[in-house]
Amino acid sequence: MSGCTGNCESCGHKGHEEQCHVSPLAGIKHKIFVLSGKGGVGKSTVAAALSVMLAKAGKKVALLDVDFHGPSQPTLFGLKDVRMEGNDSGLLPVEKYGVRVVSIGLLMDNADSAVIWRGPAKIGVLNQLFEEVDWSDTEYLVMDFPPGTGDEVLSACQTVPGDKMAVIVTTPQEVALADCRKCVDFCRQVNVPVTGIVENMSYFVCPGCSQKHELFLSGGGAKLAEAANVDLIARLPLDPVFLKMCDEGKIAEGIEQSPVLKGELKMALVDIVSKEA
Ligand code: ADP
Repeated sequence: MSGCTGNCESCGHKGHEEQCHVSPLAGIKHKIFVLSGKGGVGKSTVAAALSVMLAKAGKKVALLDVDFHGPSQPTLFGLKDVRMEGNDSGLLPVEKYGVRVVSIGLLMDNADSAVIWRGPAKIGVLNQLFEEVDWSDTEYLVMDFPPGTGDEVLSACQTVPGDKMAVIVTTPQEVALADCRKCVDFCRQVNVPVTGIVENMSYFVCPGCSQKHELFLSGGGAKLAEAANVDLIARLPLDPVFLKMCDEGKIAEGIEQSPVLKGELKMALVDIVSKEA
């Protein structure tokens, strides 16, 4: 039965539960969709960093990477050589830093193979992940989508049961912001509330003098947030040491060594968790 929320009390099918198919995702209370208009703005990194911070805050977190053509989570979590395994409960997420990671990259024989699938094939795999992964014991499901508002995110909006919220990641320049506006509009059209906008690579903090340098145009995220009537929940610095650690598969250690980035992520989480409560 599509659209099942798992709440049998409020369902017209009550009493005929044998006809119901309850999605394995129905038991997950918080679903956070991480979206961006463009690639390369740091969407996957922000999805990973928010997941790590949620886990650090004691939440039970799963991170689903459905960026089929460029799954980044195995790299960010240092899991490039690991593959998901299965048992009677289903496909088992791989746990690192307290985050249970599910990624198409953890299922491919060869991490460097290109995924050449048309839309329906991708949606089929997406639904399989929803149905066949062992999602038990998860409070927060963070989903890292491909950039834009294509098939995968639209399908997830329709298939994932219950309340969902979106976090939109952008960089400050107009070219990124223009696509970000489309993301906000998309969320409105599919009735997924936008928890907030994260402006990434907003500035660089000089390690010598500790001064902030705005590398791109300043204030783009704030202007967009105001115009779209959405909160700007974080302005993250561009931090080359963080980037290096992400490349090395050590995102949690990367967050720890960047107090400014960590502070902004913490503030964003307060916002997200309070809106999700
Ligand atoms: P997207 O998912 O939007 O395509 P990624 O998350 O893959 O983007 O990030 C692109 C690159 O930018 C990666 O190498 C990542 O480590 C780096 N990156 C992202 N955010 C930051 C940041 N705040 N500081 C430094 N490097 C970053």
